[in-house]
Amino acid sequence: MIEVIEPAKAEVMAEVPQAGIEETDAAVARAREAFGAWRRITPEHRAELLHALADAVDSHREELATVEARNAGKPIGDARGEMTMVADTFRYYAAGPQRLLGDTIPVSGGIDMTFREPLGVVGLIVPWNFPLTIAAWKLGPALAAGNTVVLKPAELTPLSALELEKIALEAGIPEGVLNVVAGPGRTCGERLVTHPDVAKIAFTGSTEVGARIAESAAATIKRVTLELGGKSANVIFADADLERAAAGAPGAVFGNAGQDCCARSRILVERSVLDPFLELMEAAVADISVGDPLADGTTMGPLISAGQLETVSSYVDDDAPVAFRGTAPDGPGYWFPPTVLCPVSNDDRQAREEIFGPVASVIPFEGEAEAIRIANDTPYGLSGSIWTRDGAKALRVCREIETGVLSINSNLSVRVSTPFGGFKQSGVGRELGPHALDHYTEVKNVFYATDAD
Ligand code: NAD
Repeated sequence: MIEVIEPAKAEVMAEVPQAGIEETDAAVARAREAFGAWRRITPEHRAELLHALADAVDSHREELATVEARNAGKPIGDARGEMTMVADTFRYYAAGPQRLLGDTIPVSGGIDMTFREPLGVVGLIVPWNFPLTIAAWKLGPALAAGNTVVLKPAELTPLSALELEKIALEAGIPEGVLNVVAGPGRTCGERLVTHPDVAKIAFTGSTEVGARIAESAAATIKRVTLELGGKSANVIFADADLERAAAGAPGAVFGNAGQDCCARSRILVERSVLDPFLELMEAAVADISVGDPLADGTTMGPLISAGQLETVSSYVDDDAPVAFRGTAPDGPGYWFPPTVLCPVSNDDRQAREEIFGPVASVIPFEGEAEAIRIANDTPYGLSGSIWTRDGAKALRVCREIETGVLSINSNLSVRVSTPFGGFKQSGVGRELGPHALDHYTEVKNVFYATDAD
């Protein structure tokens, strides 16, 4: 059995059977069996089923949000928003089956055309920080393109995925199309990656595990998309609207208790406005309400596990330059207060490693060139923000920063309808938006001879 822990209480909230290699093989076999019929369903009908799945998620929204809030330790308001995004993602990709367009290409002697064919069985491996949301980012385009799937949630947060498996059947998704195996990465995850009947792995998680998956997938030339870690820069120029930039900075790094691949955990501030910026940010950090995820008004919950608490704590030792901190409850639960370090050098461990907790490093800089140099001096390249009133400078800097998703005068990284993914060691491929469908299809080229003789 898997003992599922509620991180705000450090107590077991549920026990679910732990899947192993046998269960993974059985799920792949069910998905393989279901593939033929699923890919042949008419585009209109597949679209209807994805709409039905979205509606079913909506009707179970409150129970899914509560399970996710308790299991992942996230504020209930955030969890509700995530469930809305899950339904919106299925709705967005419901348009996919009828828009998987091919080309006709001028050639001599006949007609050349292309088709976007499904891959077959796709293995989806997801982390614990946004359990159902990230699963939906993969399920939507995978199912829309006519693939069947085996979804492996993280061991720490299997509950919402297991619930979705039932909801999908209720919504009319045929048996075998959406399968969930709740088990360890080292057994179930690795089996999906090496299984000869799995055509592709779509993975979200750490860069370390992503590299291992890419290596093992090579043996069967599996398609792989990877959404990995980040160490994103929030660049605040002296000519920015400082009040807005400072009001937004805490949420951009402490959201989901900092356990967010898009966390803007390096806050680059132009030196001439460092003091006023810190003063404004300190007031915003004081407003963060850390506590019971199910209580209205909570804006930050606990960390996911005792292990994560230990890891995050190691970045704030006695030598760390703590500028200011928020508060956190005492007592059971994996609590860590939002913490701002300043000044940090970009060479310090806190600026180089993905902490995945509520710790922000403020790094002063002088001028545009240095901001770009520091922002790019990282192996990661997922997200980031630029704050300035100079539009041309904002666009110049955006073009120079090596990351997949940027915002100007905003900290928004993710929308259902726009592509999301990383440069460098933050990943390969894109999720969401129109581009994701490309990663769940193969292009087939067909020539039809039409010459009369
Ligand atoms: P993780 O890499 O430890 O685990 C992710 C998933 O992979 C889990 O389901 C796990 O069971 C599975 N897994 C572990 N070892 C495996 C193996 N050898 N073979 C196959 N599967 C295996 O990551 P985590 O700790 O769950 O999540 C945190 C990480 O995820 C952070 O680095 C974060 O940045 C990253 N993340 C990235 C994105 C993104 O979209 N770029 C989003 C969220 C989280």
